[in-house]
Amino acid sequence: MKTGYIYDESYFWHDNGSGTLYLTSGGYLEKDVFVEDPLTKRRVNNLLFRSKLMDDLHQLKPREATKEEIEYVHKTSYIDKVKELSDTTGGDAGDHAIVGRGSYEIASLSIGGAIRAVDAVMENEVDNVYALTRPPGHHAEADFGIGFCIFNNVAIAAKHAQKKYGLKRILVLDWDVHHGNGTEQAFYDDPNIAFVSIHQHLSFPNNTGYKEDVGTGAGEGYNINIPLPPGTGDAGYVAAFQHIIAPILDEFEPELILISAGQDPGMFDPLGRMMMTAKGFGKLTDIMLDLADKHCDGKIVFCHEGGYSNGYVPFCTLRIIEQLSGIKTDVTDPFEEGSQGYPDQLYSNQKAAINEVIEVQNKYWKTLKTLP
Ligand SMILES: [Zn+2]
Repeated sequence: MKTGYIYDESYFWHDNGSGTLYLTSGGYLEKDVFVEDPLTKRRVNNLLFRSKLMDDLHQLKPREATKEEIEYVHKTSYIDKVKELSDTTGGDAGDHAIVGRGSYEIASLSIGGAIRAVDAVMENEVDNVYALTRPPGHHAEADFGIGFCIFNNVAIAAKHAQKKYGLKRILVLDWDVHHGNGTEQAFYDDPNIAFVSIHQHLSFPNNTGYKEDVGTGAGEGYNINIPLPPGTGDAGYVAAFQHIIAPILDEFEPELILISAGQDPGMFDPLGRMMMTAKGFGKLTDIMLDLADKHCDGKIVFCHEGGYSNGYVPFCTLRIIEQLSGIKTDVTDPFEEGSQGYPDQLYSNQKAAINEVIEVQNKYWKTLKTLP
């Protein structure tokens, strides 16, 4: 496999300011490292170098997205607001979407990373791509930034794929532990882009991501939310992939697959409670690679979203890129032994949650069958 990799040093220079977990520090919140810190992403990069996997990845350079491209998803007034904050004092572009000085250009380059990834796969420059995009994008709505997301990288890249290559069926899968509300909004009435978000139910945002939200108008049936209970581990995720996502892809037959890859379902994440292991992320990647081979000549693009454990995100992400490239390094997950006793089976509450999604979605996807 020829696997492309995209990052830019400036991705690590987007500055959220000081904070404690996801809040601005002050009052009784003593200053700490803000949870969306560059270090998590830099450590992904560092482990790729340290393991020498970086040597075997095809390096692709991002470019800044144009304002016209950002307007595929975002309102002009919102784009102008972000630019003004970025050029002056910085500030919040909505709800916890911090714009630092110069963040407009970095966010544009993050979008451009996703666009470059799509172009590289569509033009057969590489087989697949992992783009270490930062700031992340999946929460960002048309005129509102949310949850560290300023512009919606993956949504804009999907629109780019529609416009430039005339694609009629794109599948966007968001496995970040939080609901991909921004991406859902961008394609809610679009039957040409199927959106699947698998997430911890009501983790964030706390009022979106319901299984009943299936799309509207011509897009009805093409929005698939899979809310799972806290504590779902590898086995629960794999079951949801095998029994919901794979059959839907087999019916939809996508021409391109985009993954919003947030590694915050990982077992040490401060903002998620999903207990996934690096090995589990490898299994999910394998399932998606098989589906991409079956339906779209292997065309699959991964764009980094959330993931806040400095210690663990690098190992989860390395495993994903190993599976993408087919190259096994000598790095093993040093935390695997410590995860013995973590959930590794399909529990009844997870099976119930999966079946509830299937009962909603089999109105649209006839091959879905509830689990016994
Ligand atoms: Zn997240």
